Amino acid sequence: MTPLLIPRRRLMTAAAATGLTAATGLAAAPGGRPAHAATTATDQVAGWYRRRVGDAIVTVASDGWLDLQPISLLGTNAPEDELVALLDANFLPTDRAVGYINVTHVQIGGRSVLIDAGGGVNSGFEALGRLADTLALAGIEAASVDTIVLTHAHPDHSFGILDDAVTGLRFPNADYALAAAEHDFWTAEETLATAPAEIQGMVQGIAATLQAVAERTRFFAPGDEVVPGLTAIDTGGHTPGHVSYRIADGDAQLVVVGDAAVHPIISLTHPDWSFAFDMDGAAAAASRRRLLDLLAADRIPALAYHFPFPGIGHVAADGAVWRWVAEPFDWTP
Ligand SMILES: [Zn+2]
Repeated sequence: MTPLLIPRRRLMTAAAATGLTAATGLAAAPGGRPAHAATTATDQVAGWYRRRVGDAIVTVASDGWLDLQPISLLGTNAPEDELVALLDANFLPTDRAVGYINVTHVQIGGRSVLIDAGGGVNSGFEALGRLADTLALAGIEAASVDTIVLTHAHPDHSFGILDDAVTGLRFPNADYALAAAEHDFWTAEETLATAPAEIQGMVQGIAATLQAVAERTRFFAPGDEVVPGLTAIDTGGHTPGHVSYRIADGDAQLVVVGDAAVHPIISLTHPDWSFAFDMDGAAAAASRRRLLDLLAADRIPALAYHFPFPGIGHVAADGAVWRWVAEPFDWTP
């Protein structure tokens, strides 16, 4: 394959300068393979998990985790004492949060589909980049993936499209699908021109990643059936073209939430609190409420990208808000 002509330095610089990195103060990944390849007594592995949706086979594969701090990232418009009290009441740390990276693979109708691509080692978060290894452990080789659909293009969801060296494609045989609104936003000259300085690197990195696969990408509108059995649901607000995906086979369904909800306590009990990376807080909150309402009313199980691994459970109505009920482990998928 012809090497992609993406200057490595540009992407590395982009990763180092992402708004995420700047906001969290984390160092960018060193660019090499993370140490997870070696097993030591102190290694931890979220791994993979398998569940059926009708005849479709869903595999959740971990790309690693994000260290989110300060804690105010979880609710930029939240009174900090309320946020801290809520986390403490739920036996969670009050100074930082873990964002899990639960990537969904679905075998449906003869297709091998990945929903999001993880962040790889160049996203600006140092504990990412495990996806290809985790998929291989689950028996899914990168070369067997034929379609990659994105919920949105933030680095922790899209930078895993490219390999560690940023010179080739991690999934060499895949075609891509992305909401047209998402592609148009990140690749518009105006977006870069008007972006605050601290996120210009991120914008450039996303645009370069999307452009690297542009000839392999199909663009869709929310509501479209993107792959047979896989329909995009409009959950714009986190980013302009953010979508969630409904996987359906017969009566069986599972909704892959993406970043429409990012925390099992905060997103469900305080849906109007903005996540720091919600680009339009009001629109994100409205989408979150609409999606949570749908999941609760129709009793559809959900798979959330940043919830504790594997991120599968039910959304239950609880007065005017919701609560998360993790699904028990399935030993007989
Ligand atoms: Zn995310």
